[in-house]
Amino acid sequence: MDLKDLYQDLIVDHNRRPRNFRRMPDANRVAEGFNPLCGDKLTLYLKLDGGTISDVSFEGSGCAISVASASLLTERLKGATVEEAEALFADMIPLLTGKLPENAPREHFRKLAALEGVKEYPSRVKCASLSWHTLEAALKNAGQPVTTE
Ligand code: ZN
Repeated sequence: MDLKDLYQDLIVDHNRRPRNFRRMPDANRVAEGFNPLCGDKLTLYLKLDGGTISDVSFEGSGCAISVASASLLTERLKGATVEEAEALFADMIPLLTGKLPENAPREHFRKLAALEGVKEYPSRVKCASLSWHTLEAALKNAGQPVTTE
């Protein structure tokens, strides 16, 4: 696999113009994530309305993969149910680490499937998974900053 397959247009675009990149003063869940290996840092904001994620945003700084991953996450989860978010989280980590079976359904990933290429680059897996671990912390309202180490 060529490195350019990892930095495909969709990922480059989401890094250049991250979606939902803003602080959310009225969020009811907030979590922070840090990947010391690369220096990626982000804060994820959620507005939970019953069992629905009515709004989701993030801010922070990091490499192209971490920013694009967080941007794609917010785009995918806006309006989703918490149940759907948990199900995606459960499949997202295997997708990024190459542990999702070839024949497993992938439709529910939608654009997130573009991140599957990181499985060929072990040093970038934590960049791509950081926003997902941070999401999980926000949903569980753990309160402690998440680190990939
Ligand atoms: Zn990174």
